[in-house]
Amino acid sequence: MICPSGHPYNSLLNRFCLSCTKEHLIQEFKTWSSGDANIDKIVQKSQINCRYNKLYWIPYDNFQNIKHIADGGRGSVYSAELENGIKWDWNFIKQEWEYHSIGKKVALKEITDCRYDIAEFLKVIKTTHDYYYDYFATYYGISKNPSTQNYIIVMKSVNGDLPNYLTKTFWDLGWETKIGILGSIAYGLESLHDKNLVHCNLHSGNILIDPDLDLRIDLDSCKLENDLILNADNKISKIYGSIPYIPPEVLRGNKFTIEGDIYSFSGIMYEIVTAQRPFADQAHDTYLMIDICNGVRPKVPDFMLSWIPEWYLDLMYRCWSDDPSERPTGAELSNLFGEASYKLYRKIVDDDVMHQLQISDENQNNTSKSQKQELFELFSHSNKLHPQSCYISRNIHTLHGLHDLLEEIKSGKSPDPNLLLKSNESTTSSVNIDKEVEIRSKKKNDISTMDWE
Ligand SMILES: [Zn+2]
Repeated sequence: MICPSGHPYNSLLNRFCLSCTKEHLIQEFKTWSSGDANIDKIVQKSQINCRYNKLYWIPYDNFQNIKHIADGGRGSVYSAELENGIKWDWNFIKQEWEYHSIGKKVALKEITDCRYDIAEFLKVIKTTHDYYYDYFATYYGISKNPSTQNYIIVMKSVNGDLPNYLTKTFWDLGWETKIGILGSIAYGLESLHDKNLVHCNLHSGNILIDPDLDLRIDLDSCKLENDLILNADNKISKIYGSIPYIPPEVLRGNKFTIEGDIYSFSGIMYEIVTAQRPFADQAHDTYLMIDICNGVRPKVPDFMLSWIPEWYLDLMYRCWSDDPSERPTGAELSNLFGEASYKLYRKIVDDDVMHQLQISDENQNNTSKSQKQELFELFSHSNKLHPQSCYISRNIHTLHGLHDLLEEIKSGKSPDPNLLLKSNESTTSSVNIDKEVEIRSKKKNDISTMDWE
């Protein structure tokens, strides 16, 4: 078939022609700008090259019913509805744009942290859009809040995250679902790692999941491995994330690698079998970081052990290895969970792994729901999180970054900049703490320079 402009096009797409759509998008390049040439370039490139998901500049007045949802370490999240939807394709019969998602909900991430490189992030999104992946959050593009001048990342809205899902379903969750969820996340990680992308902030809050089990990974801090730039001394002094999921090598100040993502994945493995977040009963401070670097890992409650296959626990602790080279790869995890998931669905029990899964399911089914809950409440301070635990991503000083202060923090002479005074600490106070530490270390440096002179 030939469109009115003379392009050959796929008749399956009906009245749409990819070339016409692209030509019209290019014609409109001069009609919009994000105010940042780098961002514009990436959005334009995405519109020229990406077949499946294109990025768009979305004017702020397209959002209606904007509601504040939460604050994070980098900014705030809002929900909104799209008044005009998102451009879809050029309809060459009507000679106008067709839109999708008109009136639909979106999530808006307004970025207030100036250290966050939005252009870099859009580049990563564009890389994932070059392929058709089903396991990542859908990003529509970028907008700007006219009153704050902050950039906004516009995402498809998903109803809930993994911790939310587990709270509602945990006691009815069988191994087929658990393995299915982990298989999807492992497959997502394998796909990222295949393209040399490192997630850098994998935790359950970044696993978006709705009641129908549609699972999406929020790419959040994802970076190209080669773009993880280090200082001259090859060390990092600050890292963004939640301490229980950050691998020990990164807590020490080394670069985040593909193997680091596998360590973070283990925290999710732990949550799926215990309904608890890792290190929920502890303060997420420098002491915990030192403990993690010394090999301390979250413990599975004894009464739960009969509900969890041994191979699963072995695998979980392998992902948590202190030595990154001992951790399994994303491909290994994806194969393992993929195969187990296939067999669970078809009720095939033909090896030790499947046999252990079957027994665990039976043991769990033989305990009544009320018994389980009773055990759980007896065991733990259950849903009570330690007031100084923090599962919201924030800026954390690595042990390398604290090296001058470390002895003083340990002896209690200096306050711990990684200790939260309130569980819902805002970005501003963490910035203040940052400044305070910088001043302190500057003073210290001054003193030590004087000593040497
Ligand atoms: Zn055409």
